[in-house]
Amino acid sequence: MYQDYDESKSYDNAAREAIDLANRLADSDEEADVWDIADGILAGAIQYWLYTRQPCGDPRCEDCEPINTAEKRLAELIRFTQELVKESEYYHSPHDINTGTA
Ligand SMILES: [Zn+2]
Repeated sequence: MYQDYDESKSYDNAAREAIDLANRLADSDEEADVWDIADGILAGAIQYWLYTRQPCGDPRCEDCEPINTAEKRLAELIRFTQELVKESEYYHSPHDINTGTA
């Protein structure tokens, strides 16, 4: 479903807007802790993600099968989050303490 052009455009727009929002919040308050901003953006994103993954009510609905219990929604959210984290250019850092120095 994420291959559809409009959905992937929505995906890109939403991701870009979230980053723009975080940068605006950080720029507008010099005292702001960027970790707090990031945590807040993530909290809002998770809230919205869960809101959109409410099953439709038909216990045999195939579309909702992967998310039709709280445990399945959490598992799906963790799976998707891990995928995004591993794809991120910021996942590895040259300052990671387990980075080889050879
Ligand atoms: Zn459904």
